[in-house]
Amino acid sequence: MSGIVQGVGFRPFVFTLAERLRLVGFVGNDGAGVFVEVEGPAPTCDAFLKAVQQDAPPLAVVESVRHRTIPTTGEAGFRIVESGAAGTQITAVSPDVATCDACLREFNDPADRRYRYPFINCTNCGPRFTIIKDLPYDRPLTTMAAFAMCAACDAEYHDPRSRRFHAQPNACPACGPRMSFARTPAPEETQIGEAALQAALGVLSAGGILAVKGIGGFHLACCATSAAAVATLRERKGRRDKPFAVMAADLSAVRQFSTVSVAEEALLGSSQRPIVLLERAQNPTTEIVRDVAPGQTTLGVMLPYTPLHTLLLAAGPLVMTSGNRSEEPIARDNDEAWTRLRALADAFLTHDRDIHVVCDDSVVRVIDDREQPIRRSRGYAPFPVLLPTPTPMVLGVGAELKATACVSRDHYAILSQHIGDLGNLETLQAMEHACNHLLRLFRVTPDRVACDLHPGYESTRWAERWAGAHSVPVVRVQHHHAHLAALMAEHGEVGDRPILAFTFDGTGYGTDGTIWGGEVLLGDYRSFKRVAHLRETPLPGGDAGVRHPARVALAQLRAAGVEWTEALPCVSAIPPDHRRVLHVQLERRLNCVDTSSMGRFLDAASSLVGVRHEVTYEGQAAIEFESMARGAVSAATYAFALTNEADGSLVFDGGSVLREVAADVQRGTAHSQIARGVHEAIAALVERVAHDVSQRHGPLAIGLTGGVFQNALLLSLTRRRLERGGYRVLSHHRIPPNDGGIALGQVMVASHTPVV
Ligand code: ZN
Ligand code: ZN
Ligand code: FE
Repeated sequence: MSGIVQGVGFRPFVFTLAERLRLVGFVGNDGAGVFVEVEGPAPTCDAFLKAVQQDAPPLAVVESVRHRTIPTTGEAGFRIVESGAAGTQITAVSPDVATCDACLREFNDPADRRYRYPFINCTNCGPRFTIIKDLPYDRPLTTMAAFAMCAACDAEYHDPRSRRFHAQPNACPACGPRMSFARTPAPEETQIGEAALQAALGVLSAGGILAVKGIGGFHLACCATSAAAVATLRERKGRRDKPFAVMAADLSAVRQFSTVSVAEEALLGSSQRPIVLLERAQNPTTEIVRDVAPGQTTLGVMLPYTPLHTLLLAAGPLVMTSGNRSEEPIARDNDEAWTRLRALADAFLTHDRDIHVVCDDSVVRVIDDREQPIRRSRGYAPFPVLLPTPTPMVLGVGAELKATACVSRDHYAILSQHIGDLGNLETLQAMEHACNHLLRLFRVTPDRVACDLHPGYESTRWAERWAGAHSVPVVRVQHHHAHLAALMAEHGEVGDRPILAFTFDGTGYGTDGTIWGGEVLLGDYRSFKRVAHLRETPLPGGDAGVRHPARVALAQLRAAGVEWTEALPCVSAIPPDHRRVLHVQLERRLNCVDTSSMGRFLDAASSLVGVRHEVTYEGQAAIEFESMARGAVSAATYAFALTNEADGSLVFDGGSVLREVAADVQRGTAHSQIARGVHEAIAALVERVAHDVSQRHGPLAIGLTGGVFQNALLLSLTRRRLERGGYRVLSHHRIPPNDGGIALGQVMVASHTPVV
């Protein structure tokens, strides 16, 4: 049997099943997965074969089962055999898993020896990836090595009938990790266990900020219904507008402030326990502070995924944001957290189980009843992507923002947890750590390393250094080509026919040295053709210019021949003297780069209708623009002008839309209607270009990728149009459409690139 069948309770499952069916034989792990020999009447053996696949343990993913009939050997009973090769299988490392129902029942049972024990776990749940230092997955190679099991735990660990048979993090109050509490700035006065919890709850209900050690790192927590607490957290973290996530005790608590669909409910309660973006309820019975997610109609919500969280939520819904200062990676060990977070938190609720790998919470959104990952991290990493064909061993280092790394071997690509934006030394070190960990854990010795085409990216430079040190070639992959390849890989495309990928994002280095981002690529893993793109406009201030949508708007209006009149919100947002400077800058093209970015087009549109003129986090203007469009009852009609270039490619002009938008703004058309119209125009554009290109190249699958397609309204409108038109549409359901998926695409392209 192969697939995810090790470290997930497969052997005890087989053992129990065989005993129940009164079969004799044995089960064990080997390098390929799990092997079983059973002896008994033929119909019972058939029933066994069926049940092994149908009733597999919750965390197992059975990819294939091969079986054959052999002569009987006269086994006396059923046993679990040891195997030297156990645990070296690539899929042996499970992501971290939220507390299971069986453990929760014990946790809530006053008669159980683990009653209210914050570290209760079993073979079906608990920390995994974040505590594993190396393979085989055995307690000595995890951060649980420091805890010697008591007699009771040890007995469970060795009993195949126990839910804790070979559960590596197995622990109880007598032998396992403990919580402790300390107030800043006086770490001497610590409290342990239940007293620690009560002290922590006291801090939260008094409106304080609590640093909480979880599975993948530290969170900063505060009461989500206290405006003062949320304001303090924003101020101390240096984070003005970027939304915080909220953790609530259970689904009924979530329904008090958010709407929850069936698909959203399933995700909230899944063993991955991601943050799910939910619409705020119209008439909430619990008022989550507006400032938790300013300017948005959605709220990021998650349910507790460790028993410690369950205890903490007695304080009501909590803001739970990663324990870091803005732009730094999430804090990992106790000393580091103390140093970095003591200025931010009033107190610490921590514990003595070490975190080996830092892992932020994952974020997903449900669009048209299907999951779209926005950040794929805790609970998902390092779950492999199953590839359609075998791949060489490759390391991909991603781009610059939302960085992840990826390694590949055999039929698998393994994406790392979310690392963050590679703007500083800490994140670069985190990325190096993640790469080395993946390479070691999955025994990957790359024969090439893949990176972005952008020469200025930290990740590119790191890849060059790494390649030099290991004497392997570097494969530079164009950013949007990587998006396309990641989408194809997610959908198991073999690569024998190209797809037409609408790759809309903020920034990516183009093959012509300009900044791309509104690209229509016809391509496969090997190569691509840029068959259409958004007309370039100047971006004043280059990369720094992205923080100022109003300036972007003015530049694009000028390019579209629209006069800068005070009647336009984006114009009045900029003081006249600044406008004069900007005019000169654009006139003489000083410190301006050309960009075909769809992200910048949306920024410009957003500022033009007065939604947002300055941003404090990536994508803010577009996100708030989407929120506005969702409130529309009807849509204005706009269209992108299309022109044929001499080289046969198509260019679509954002200026034609902005001219009409500017006129509507001056006419006093409802802003939500305008915003909706811009979304509709992009969807219509995609359909027109898809039609045009398919006419010339024959039927093509249409891909929708890039950070812009995190916009649920846009994705939904576009997909509906395309599907009505009979196209096969590929969008993201397992890999983020944003740069969090780039490393996978790089690996795919590099693995199809001949290297010497
Ligand atoms: Zn459990
Ligand atoms: Zn114990
Ligand atoms: Fe991108």
